[in-house]
Amino acid sequence: MEKGNPAGRRGRVAIANALYWILFLAFLLSFISSRNALSMALVSDRIVDAAGMTIALASYSIVQLPPTGKFTYGFHRLESIFSVLLIMTFILLLLYTAIISIPEIYSSRIHSPLYTVYSSALSLLLLPIIALLLHGDENLTTKTMGIHTLQDIFTTALALVGSLILILYPSGFVLFMFVIVIIVVSIIMNWGLITGNIRLLMEGTDINTVEIESSLKQRFPMVHHLHIWDVCRHYRMATVHVYAANNSSLLELEPVRREIDDYLKEYGVNHLTLQFEPSPELKH
Ligand SMILES: [Zn+2]
Ligand SMILES: [Zn+2]
Ligand SMILES: [Zn+2]
Repeated sequence: MEKGNPAGRRGRVAIANALYWILFLAFLLSFISSRNALSMALVSDRIVDAAGMTIALASYSIVQLPPTGKFTYGFHRLESIFSVLLIMTFILLLLYTAIISIPEIYSSRIHSPLYTVYSSALSLLLLPIIALLLHGDENLTTKTMGIHTLQDIFTTALALVGSLILILYPSGFVLFMFVIVIIVVSIIMNWGLITGNIRLLMEGTDINTVEIESSLKQRFPMVHHLHIWDVCRHYRMATVHVYAANNSSLLELEPVRREIDDYLKEYGVNHLTLQFEPSPELKH
């Protein structure tokens, strides 16, 4: 599970985040001025970058909030709720982008890609700075963001090449093809964000619980009914049932409990609830 992040690094991430919002605004303005679908495709991608990073930054503070009587894990999962809202926004924007690019195929005059050239050029200037700001960050989210920034350079370069080609050879079909390619690439690039957050809200985990249960069973055949799920990037929960001899004492069971706990810790489980049960005959 993930480690904390010192305040100095957080400052650099905040600057990177501000730059991402500038890029989002640049493409939004470019779209508003030109109605060019290429700009809109980049608006969709940049909002995930900018808002996703803001959510990550806000989560530094959110995880500091103490648990309450009603929210005993604290408010860590707010990050996932916001992320899912962001994913839905992203998908709606991509749909909108695809829809507005279709009429371009049949229109005699396509929307000017000139502003897309400007905003892409600005993007290509700022993205390497963002990548440098995020480089070598220990934090899980910003580390993946650093790699993500390199991928953003790729989509932006695609938009720049596309808009330059369109200035030379205005073609609705070429515009449509570039838009579709950028949409597909940006879905692939954000796939981890989409599946990761859905898995979290599905009470899932990215480790192989079947494998863990069967290797636990080899050591302790009385182990059964294992659940593992992630509350957030910090809390990995597990519950497990263990049959015990009817007359066993707590002291006798303690080494079993500790060994199972230690074993699950190797897989990042940091909150185990273990239940001992009388005997295999009393199955439920
Ligand atoms: Zn169950
Ligand atoms: Zn957390
Ligand atoms: Zn049981």
